[in-house]
Amino acid sequence: MNETKQAKHTPGDWKHVGESGGCRYIMAGDVQIAWVNGTEDGIDNEARAAEGYANGDLFAAAPDLLAACRRVLEIYDDIRGGTKCVVLDCPQCATEKAVGAAIAKAEGKS
Ligand SMILES: [Zn+2]
Repeated sequence: MNETKQAKHTPGDWKHVGESGGCRYIMAGDVQIAWVNGTEDGIDNEARAAEGYANGDLFAAAPDLLAACRRVLEIYDDIRGGTKCVVLDCPQCATEKAVGAAIAKAEGKS
């Protein structure tokens, strides 16, 4: 499949720029595509700042995660070879379903 035809988002590579206690941005090349809000609550600001920083890391990884999920489904399709799985409570099918749901969420289809 053609990645660029599927993607409606700004193409990667996305980078998380900023510091734990400061401004946090998601950059796609030279373009700022998101600002990552802090979650400081006045109770445990250090932990909340670290949480906000981790959120930025997760955002920045999104295009890579989406591509990896799509690849997982392609590999599962190849493994199955067009046959239908008959394994009861199959962990592979459960994983495939979860990955498919994650892709649908990323594509705004859920
Ligand atoms: Zn299965």
